Amino acid sequence: MSFVESLFTVWVTFLGLCVGSFLNVVIGRLPLGESIVYPGSRCPQCKNPIAWYDNIPVVSWLVLRGQCRHCQTPISPRYILVEMLVGVLYLLAFQKFGWTLALPGPLIFIGFLVALSFIDAEHWVLPFEITLPGIVVGLLLSWVGGLHGFYESLFGALLGFLGLRAVEYFGWLGFRKEAMGAGDKFLFALIGAFLGWRALLGVMLLASIQGSVFGIGKILVLRRKNEPEKPKEPPEEKPPAYTMTWEFLQPGLSIGRRLLLLPYSLFLQPIPDAPLDEQGEEVEWKPDLTNIPFGPWLALGALEVLLWAEVLAAKLPLAGMEFLFGT
Ligand SMILES: [Zn+2]
Repeated sequence: MSFVESLFTVWVTFLGLCVGSFLNVVIGRLPLGESIVYPGSRCPQCKNPIAWYDNIPVVSWLVLRGQCRHCQTPISPRYILVEMLVGVLYLLAFQKFGWTLALPGPLIFIGFLVALSFIDAEHWVLPFEITLPGIVVGLLLSWVGGLHGFYESLFGALLGFLGLRAVEYFGWLGFRKEAMGAGDKFLFALIGAFLGWRALLGVMLLASIQGSVFGIGKILVLRRKNEPEKPKEPPEEKPPAYTMTWEFLQPGLSIGRRLLLLPYSLFLQPIPDAPLDEQGEEVEWKPDLTNIPFGPWLALGALEVLLWAEVLAAKLPLAGMEFLFGT
């Protein structure tokens, strides 16, 4: 590696640490509805502002040994974890894409994925404030020369959204409950906008396999710890009277009317994301210990395809299935 290359490598990694530091603010504040620019960083306990020298990525957390300088309140290890993670991902992206015009897209994409993963893992939401701008940014980047052409990207966003919306709809018809988080389809659309539609199948495959392995492992560990068994669910009650049908499928409509209703049904008509009570109101849903959010697994699959699509397509027992990863 030449001297200049090493310099760029260090610089991009350092950029990743700083972006990670910013993402920590987003992850900590956005789900609580707080502004991410004002006020400046302060200790949530003693409210003392955090000086610049206590706000240096990774270093400050280590120097302070994960505690507030003033009141010794522990600072979550999430801070150093996110900073190092983004630093490493930026380094890997730089190694793959080099100092080219193809680099900014992946760097921005990584930022969106990390912020959304950590928020989803902690709060079980994928905020629209991040997913919607993310989709737009992915499309714009493809317009000015991202990883893929614009139509590849536009079709990716549409396919990602509609694919998971169909899963949601048929899951609802089949089980009368949420098959997947309502926000996941916006994340999948964002992934489609950045990676193009060809990559979506591979992303879903990787996300499902790894998410299932983790989910099963978690259940086994909980069993071993002798977690109190969940109380047996009461015998299946009669399914709620309310059923949902996509408007354009209602019986007795003319073809013209169906076509008119199609866009509304596909994109806007609400699909209940929780079981309904007798009044047709959604029952509040709380994750139990055996549930895991799917967003971080989608993000992991997307990162793997972003960084290693060619390796995956060549090395997996799936060799010859390059189409899965869009390579
Ligand atoms: Zn403090």
